[in-house]
Amino acid sequence: MSANPTTPRFAIAIDGPAASGKSTLARELAKRLGLVMVNSGAMYRAVTWQALQENIDPLDSDAVIAMLDRVHIHCGEIGMTSTCTIDGIDPGEALRSEAINANVSAISAIPEVRNRLVNLQRDYLDHTSIIMEGRDIGSVVFPDTPFKIYIDADEEVRAARRAHVGEVDSVSKRDAADSERITAPLKIADGAVVLDTSHHSIESGVAAAIEILKQQGLPVEMAGSYHPET
Ligand code: C5P
Repeated sequence: MSANPTTPRFAIAIDGPAASGKSTLARELAKRLGLVMVNSGAMYRAVTWQALQENIDPLDSDAVIAMLDRVHIHCGEIGMTSTCTIDGIDPGEALRSEAINANVSAISAIPEVRNRLVNLQRDYLDHTSIIMEGRDIGSVVFPDTPFKIYIDADEEVRAARRAHVGEVDSVSKRDAADSERITAPLKIADGAVVLDTSHHSIESGVAAAIEILKQQGLPVEMAGSYHPET
């Protein structure tokens, strides 16, 4: 429940390619604005994790959909951060493994996987305002929100960021697959403002994002009043 039940809930959509800095930015914005931060990529990663656990070929969409019919996916939040469990298990750090990085784009290209996860993503607004990061948040999940930012960064900067955190991740391959898929490809949503973080520090990136949100009409000084009761 929001602190003020008469205030309409809203979603801030943060989209962009892999390692563009969108998670860091979304997390910092969420803290400052008092919003729950939802990492939609973690949901696609959790489904991929389950498929790999069951030795399901990520390209076999029928088998992946049959798996979804069997398992229970629960998305919620602990404090101000989203959580996603599959049959009660949170795969945690395993979501960032090389195997998941290599297979998640195939899983997320399956329209039925997207349908189900998009519904779970929209469900958040039933109880709280959110800032959600992903690839299709401004274009598909919440196309009507006025608050949309597309985060970008130079390819070398993005590859260096992944390497810095010790992750094996073919960022350009994943971006190509995510941009070229037929259903809900990564793109700049209508109405989104592009923010290039290549030469921004975290602090200056957050300041730039807050300016964009103010221009899009977010009453930034009020956003904290949407704190969910935790
Ligand atoms: O954001 P993250 O890099 O963790 O996302 C992992 C993968 O999940 C992406 O490469 C993409 O294939 C998929 N994804 C998606 N739509 C979203 C969020 C993530 O297809 N909204």
